[in-house]
This record gives sequence, structure tokens and C-alpha cells, in this order.
Amino acid sequence: MINMDLSYILTELGEEREQYFNAIAPPIVQTSNFAFKDVAEMRKAFTDEYATYLYSRGLNPTVDILRKKLAALDEAEDCLVFNSGAAAIFAAVLANVKAGDHIVSVRKPYSWAQRMFEVILPRFNVHHTYVDGTDMKNFEEAILPNTTVFYLESPNSWDYAMQDLQAVADLAKQHQIITICDNSYSTPLYQKPIRLGIDLVLQSATKYISGHSDVVAGVLSGSRAAIEKIFNSEYMNIGSGIQPFNAWLLLRGLRTLPARLERGSRTTKEVLAYLKQHPKVEQVFFPLDETFAQYELAQKQLTGACGLLTFVLKASNVEQVETFCNSLQHILMAVSWGGYESLVIPRCAGIPKEEFDAANIEHRMIRLYLGLEDAAYLVADLEQAFNKLDQ
Ligand SMILES: *Cc1c(COP(=O)(O)O)cnc(C)c1O
Repeated sequence: MINMDLSYILTELGEEREQYFNAIAPPIVQTSNFAFKDVAEMRKAFTDEYATYLYSRGLNPTVDILRKKLAALDEAEDCLVFNSGAAAIFAAVLANVKAGDHIVSVRKPYSWAQRMFEVILPRFNVHHTYVDGTDMKNFEEAILPNTTVFYLESPNSWDYAMQDLQAVADLAKQHQIITICDNSYSTPLYQKPIRLGIDLVLQSATKYISGHSDVVAGVLSGSRAAIEKIFNSEYMNIGSGIQPFNAWLLLRGLRTLPARLERGSRTTKEVLAYLKQHPKVEQVFFPLDETFAQYELAQKQLTGACGLLTFVLKASNVEQVETFCNSLQHILMAVSWGGYESLVIPRCAGIPKEEFDAANIEHRMIRLYLGLEDAAYLVADLEQAFNKLDQ
């Protein structure tokens, strides 16, 4: 389970081809339920649904192939695949809090994690403290006697703020605190939180695992005991497990994950070099760029970085930011990332226009996701959009 060959995981692990006509591609076992030969067998299934095909809200054979591969990539004993990354976040946190508990979360985690902390959990008397996770001492200072969870996201998907995962995990263990880390940015190929001592790692599989902008899904990995406990309550109760067809699409996406990341990394390097020399670019944010505030930690903790990067446009008003983004012809304006197509989101799209403040660099941030197009094609698109600012 630990340290399997990546090629083995992606092409062989979990595939029992002799069971389905030696077909190379696994079948989509599109069934809601499974039959038993007698009452004794059915009774046995009722006592342990985590070990039996009974009903597809629980286990399903197509989903199981995917689970084996994704758990192995995370170097985890087991994982669950959800119908969204948000569901994986919800299940992971819900499973580890009770009324009266306290969560320490990094500031500005994924938006729906924020909503859970700020709107849903307080109704059940679970409260949180946001900390700047770039400094370890902020975690130490935020711990209360009732703190049960550290919620981490490293790197963050806008400014790439990171936490020293090993140090945070060590601190958490001293206080019997569960660590949960959103690893969507890096994927398990570029960062292995469980190896660093994190208890539960999750990612939005909508992004790089799918890779084709056609599935919404999430993965939650951890020890067998932790995952079994979540399966038997939150997973079965929320009922947001992934459906067989979507699991099959993720299996297909996984086959090419290393190739897509490699290609995206090369493109990102070229586009980053172009942006850094451009007179209209004030600053770039990218974990593996030497100007990045946590470059040293990024080099220690990441074995690569993905196609997401952010830059700050030199602009004196919101119209200039809008002109730049509206002028892009090939880079599409859309949320999400990790697919084949390049994307742009300006931070100001999430800010009421009248509140735009050019003095605040965050308001001039533009996030690019670089997909599988040629770097030169993307640079040419950026170049003509920059040129529109002079007209
Ligand atoms: C997209 C995303 C999520 C949520 O995943 P969904 O699949 O959209 O529910 C969580 N965290 C990060 C960092 C993301 O980018």
C-alpha cells in the first residue's frame, strides 16, 4: 500500500480484468443494488456494509477500483470518493466535531469550507478561529482546550499560502487534534500530506483527477479505521458518494494524470517567464517561483506545482482589469481548473464593483489556469489582451 509504483497504480492496481472478459477498460457497474443467494448472506451483509456490495449508496465495484488507486496515490490505507470536493470537506469535518468543539482553520480556505465554518457549524455550537497558517506559532496560540480539528489548505488556490505540514501535524499530535488538509492544488503527485503526518487528506477530483472539465467529485483519504468510521456514518448518511459513471470518468482521467501535469508544468514555466518580464505585471504568485514568500518551504514540501498562478495587474481602476480579461480570446473566463482548457478569473469578479480599490493588490489579482494548449498560443492571447490596455 505504501510507496507503490505510480505506473502500477494507474494501469494495474484494482483492475481484475479476468472478472470482466479481460476487457482493458473496466465496466461501469451501473446498478443500485446487489442480490444475495440466501438469508444468511444477506444478514452478513447487513452487519458490515463496508465489506459487502449491498447498495450503491455504499460500495460499488467501479467506484472500488477508483478508491484503490486514489488511496494508493495518497499513500493512505483507504479513501472514499464523493460527488464533490465540498462533500468530502463536509464529511471530514463533521466526522471530527461535536457540540462545543473548536476548529482552527487556515484563513481563507475554499469558499464552501468557509461557509460550513461560518454558517452551518455555529448552529451546532462548533466554532472556529482563522489563523495565518504561514507561521506555526499562530496554530500554537489558537489552540483552546476544546480544539479538535486543524483545517489546512496548502497551497491555497489563490495566493498559494502554505503550511509546514509536518510541523503542524506534530503539534496537532501533541494535543490530540485531528489534521485535515485540502490538497487540491498539488494533487497527490506533487504533495503527500499523509507521509508528513496529516490524518485526513482531501482533494477536489473535479480538478486534475478528472482533467476534462466534465465531472464534479472529491476524494477523502486516511487510515482504514478513520475512513471506515466516516463510511458508516457521514458517507452513508449524506448520501453523496460518487456514481459509477462518474467514477469511470475519473478512472479514465487518472490514466493521463502524470502526463497532463508534466505538460501543464512546462507551459506554466513559460507563461510565468513571460508574465514576469511584462511591464504591466506588478507581481506574480506561484509557489515554485523564487519570488514566492514561502519558496523555501515550497521547495521542501512540493515535488511540483500545477498550472494555477496569479498575477497582479498594474491598473488604476477596475475597468482596466475588466478590459484585460474581456479581451482574452482563447483563455476562457470560468471557475474551476485542472481541465484541458486554460481559464481566467479576476479577483474583482467577486467584489462589488463600487468597492474596487486599486490600492489593494488583492483587487487587481488575476488567476490563470494553464491547460494543455501550446504555451506560445496562450502567451499570444495574453499579449494581445495586454496591448488592449494601451488603446
Ligand atoms: C474546487 C475546490 C474545492 C471544492 O471541490 P468541488 O469538487 O468543486 O466541490 C475545494 N478546495 C479547493 C482548493 C478547490 O479548488
